Amino acid sequence: MAEPEATSLRHLPAVAAVLATAEAAVLLERHGRVATTDAVRQAIDEARGVLRTALAVAPTATEVAQIARGLLEARAPALRPLFNLTGTVLHTNLGRAVLAEAAIDAAVEAMRHAVALEYDLADGTRGERDDHLRGLLCELTGAEDATVVNNNAAAVLLCLNTFALGREAVVSRGELIEIGGAFRMPDIMARAGARMVEVGTTNRTHPADYRNAINTGTGLVLKVHTSNYRIQGFTAEVGARELAAIADASGVPLLNDLGSGSLVDLSNYGLAKEPTVRQAVEEGARLVTFSGDKLLGGPQAGFIVGDRVLIDQINSNPLKRALRVDKLRLAAIEATLNLYRDPDRLAERLPTLRFLARGKADIEAQARRLQPAVAERLGDAFLVEVGDCLSQIGSGALPLDTLASSALMVRARGSQKALEHLAAVLRTLPRPVIGRVADGALQLDVRCLAEADETLFLANLAELNTDGLAAHTP
Ligand SMILES: *Cc1c(COP(=O)(O)O)cnc(C)c1O
Repeated sequence: MAEPEATSLRHLPAVAAVLATAEAAVLLERHGRVATTDAVRQAIDEARGVLRTALAVAPTATEVAQIARGLLEARAPALRPLFNLTGTVLHTNLGRAVLAEAAIDAAVEAMRHAVALEYDLADGTRGERDDHLRGLLCELTGAEDATVVNNNAAAVLLCLNTFALGREAVVSRGELIEIGGAFRMPDIMARAGARMVEVGTTNRTHPADYRNAINTGTGLVLKVHTSNYRIQGFTAEVGARELAAIADASGVPLLNDLGSGSLVDLSNYGLAKEPTVRQAVEEGARLVTFSGDKLLGGPQAGFIVGDRVLIDQINSNPLKRALRVDKLRLAAIEATLNLYRDPDRLAERLPTLRFLARGKADIEAQARRLQPAVAERLGDAFLVEVGDCLSQIGSGALPLDTLASSALMVRARGSQKALEHLAAVLRTLPRPVIGRVADGALQLDVRCLAEADETLFLANLAELNTDGLAAHTP
């Protein structure tokens, strides 16, 4: 056996020979010399591996170039758009909020042109990058001053580091949250240089617990929104208003970390009530932090609003420079916040709110429209029905509140393996389709499928490689 293997290995074309083929000329033009040469080397390596383990004929130079083409074309952009049919509107792993058209346009303009980022157009002198948003944020929240950083995790870190570096930060044991990505309140406190002082118990914290803990070494009192869990049963917490009074009496600022935070009363849109940022400010917290890409529906960002003297101190912290936001996002944030000045048309213009506020009947009608084409495309191996499901808001916002929705429920007529295979194949589409497997069905919740994207959705599905999809049928 050694003889034929060695012979076929000898017949493997050299890199230069492959690059000289007409097939490779196209690749060189499209992908450049470096990437093409890399792909050709990889293709030759793969062929060598095959020849070592199996008796086969060495590929020709053109055949190697064709393998290289496959490798190059498989490298689709990692961040290409996909269809989020998971039913989770603000899916952290899928990039959270999709932006409003106005925000997209503003970001594109800022990308393409120079902008007065830190430049005062009125008198031609240096300006502040926060100036553009300060007015809007104050108007929308009722706060005296505002600043913007990379995300809400950064906002909390910066507040802790500014006011509790080498000092104590007081927080209830019921609010020591962990959110995704290893953001744990105790760890963030440690990294910010603050000594965490826990008060109360997991289920009950009283005013006296805070009063007893606050002393001359206290830099900050924290109230943290328990975004992704809820403590129920025999519970007690100190409300923000009362806690603000306790902190004020000792001259220590209260930071209220709202997490998601909303600028509008969500109950107007049929959703559960969340405290708005304006309420949190009004309740007396000296600082309030919240996210840009959760319920607010903008790009990733963290907002800190509150007392001017405190915001000034935050802005003078050298860490602020490391956590600042670039012009693209500032442009998108400004455009997003501007939409909130016209609440009547907000749900129409802000995709996050539009998706969250969508009625079940509308979603179900859409699922029924799509059902025949999807059933036909998936073939006899699958049963495609329209069924009820529950969407989630996501990103830890209102964790226990689900929204009645409608999905294409795909079930395998054969083994369950077929369903897993289908889910995997849907992820390889030019525009990957991400659903959720639950109760023996692949659920494609169409809440987040814009009506305008239906044609695109079906055209994309037409690219589905149905080979092997029926293989698991008994
Ligand atoms: C989500 C959240 C954060 C972190 O916000 P990001 O914008 O994701 O960095 C911090 N605190 C709370 C309470 C949250 O819910």
